[in-house]
Amino acid sequence: MLLPEKFVEKYQTILGAEAAAFFKSFEENPVSAYRINPLKGEADHFTDPIKDTPWGHYGKISGKSIEHVTGLVYSQEPAAQMVGQIAAPKPGMKVLDLAAAPGGKSTHLLSYLNNSGILISNEISKKRSKALVENIERFGARNALVTNESPKRLAAVFQHYFDLIVLDAPCSGEGMFRKDPSAIQYWHEDYPLQCAQIQKEILTEAVKMLAPGGSLVYSTCTWAPEENEEVVSWLLSKYSYLELAEIPKINGMAAGIKMPQAARMYPHCFKGEGQFAAKLQDKRPSRTVAIKPRKNQLKKEQEQLWQDFAHKHLNVKLTGFYQTFGDHLYLLPQGLPDMSQLKMARNGLHLGVFKKKRFEPSFALGLALKREEFTRFIEIDVEQFKIYVSGNSVSLSQDYPNGWYPIFIKGKGIGFAKVTGNTLKNHFPKGLRFQ
Ligand code: SAM
Repeated sequence: MLLPEKFVEKYQTILGAEAAAFFKSFEENPVSAYRINPLKGEADHFTDPIKDTPWGHYGKISGKSIEHVTGLVYSQEPAAQMVGQIAAPKPGMKVLDLAAAPGGKSTHLLSYLNNSGILISNEISKKRSKALVENIERFGARNALVTNESPKRLAAVFQHYFDLIVLDAPCSGEGMFRKDPSAIQYWHEDYPLQCAQIQKEILTEAVKMLAPGGSLVYSTCTWAPEENEEVVSWLLSKYSYLELAEIPKINGMAAGIKMPQAARMYPHCFKGEGQFAAKLQDKRPSRTVAIKPRKNQLKKEQEQLWQDFAHKHLNVKLTGFYQTFGDHLYLLPQGLPDMSQLKMARNGLHLGVFKKKRFEPSFALGLALKREEFTRFIEIDVEQFKIYVSGNSVSLSQDYPNGWYPIFIKGKGIGFAKVTGNTLKNHFPKGLRFQ
């Protein structure tokens, strides 16, 4: 791999005796890995765990596999997996992932939250927020909203609100050179300082949203000290109530440069790509914003239709508050401020749509619940799965009472479909179909 001359000079100086091993690592293959999704119930057939991680495994998972389509796994290289693990929110927390697409950190945070608390997953780019919504939907979370906003506009709504904020910042991407060599062409000597300026602007807004006593995880996928330790030092000097928390160094992580609490991941020491992370703790006494629980916003007739559907199909009570947008029904976690001024890409869990005198369940609902949480379901086999994901109707081996059923493959949901007799009509979203 041909690395920029100035890059080589820079890391020769920074890494000294280690530089040769560092440069040699660019000749090796990038490391693939994935995380198992604990929201989807048991998963015992994965065999190459990443040591000292709750859900990480080495290996490649195809985007066409059952594991991917059902959201049972999320592909993410090992160094990137360390960021969610460093953040490790506790159940019930209010969490913000400020630069979230395509969703690696967000889905990891959702694993820790285990359908409690709130995740606001934000992405400034509209185009990128589409993939983020898709990934969160597939992951099956019930407590996540996706916004498509600038940090500044978000900060106007969420003042001192979050217990935990993760900023996985846009950066010069040096740590991605091996995985995506096209990133090299954007790199120039001054690029890290330009990125640092943007990172400081985003962090200025992030700090406004942190609840006193909360924590802020700052990460990049670059090794440039200008974007890492220097940005963290700037934060610490600007906000005297922030202090660095120690990140336990596992699996070959290195300490930050003259910042032992922070963590660096270099491919010659840590089996993965490049990453930096720091965790900042707000030392002020904890204080969270109290928000009154909201009442469901359904018309009487809608309430009845939903209750009838839930009674017939669900073994679980979905807690939160129910909100309609047009004829569409959503479940949102309690404790949210007024978000009506924000651009929403996913307004909570889409439950379905009211149509004349009936309620039709959504694709997302079929992905968000486990098999035992439904009163009835249809399990299809691998051949039927292939037919279904390609957009065709599936012939079942027996007749079923007509109606909607959540469809399962190897015990994991792939959405709702309508059944007439022994025919399962296709309701797999057009944009997700494949051969
Ligand atoms: N956290 C993501 C994950 O794990 O999948 C990756 C995030 S990526 C490193 C950085 C993100 O920051 C990009 O999605 C990019 O669109 C967004 N971004 C770029 N400029 C930004 C800005 N000025 N404010 C906020 N986000 C920005």
